[in-house]
Amino acid sequence: MAKNTKAAGISTGQCLCGRVGFEIDTPARWAWHDHSAASRRAHGAAYATYVGSWRKRFRITRGSAAITRFEDKASKTVRSFCARCGTPLFYERARSPHMVNIPRALFAGRTGRQPLYHIAIEEMQEWTYTGEPLVPLKGFPGVVWHRQKKQKRVDHEGMF
Ligand SMILES: [Zn+2]
Repeated sequence: MAKNTKAAGISTGQCLCGRVGFEIDTPARWAWHDHSAASRRAHGAAYATYVGSWRKRFRITRGSAAITRFEDKASKTVRSFCARCGTPLFYERARSPHMVNIPRALFAGRTGRQPLYHIAIEEMQEWTYTGEPLVPLKGFPGVVWHRQKKQKRVDHEGMF
């Protein structure tokens, strides 16, 4: 990769309650979707989308006292979260000591990288939404759903 340390801009982010704020110089190093069980649980979500930043291009701008760290000794990873609101913040791996990985969803704007990559795709859950066409659910404004293909009508006669 070409040596290009010149930052084009700054992208800022924060946790849900706003106590913790941070910023990175853009463009970020890369971005990806992580389908591993560890990230799924840490986020309580189908998968986590991360933006990887060089550590030297990453800054905590407020609330560092509110950041709690969970160290997973087995996987040699550290996950930080806001002690007040629980938002997952930073994901650091011993194998990549110069990188800080930040949930894409915490950034207010663009980070200079599209999440084109997937990690642990074989662990993707069958309940993950993958873009199937959706239609409005009658009688529930604001709710759309993935209508199942018409199934053979169940004949209830004689069941009881
Ligand atoms: Zn918070």
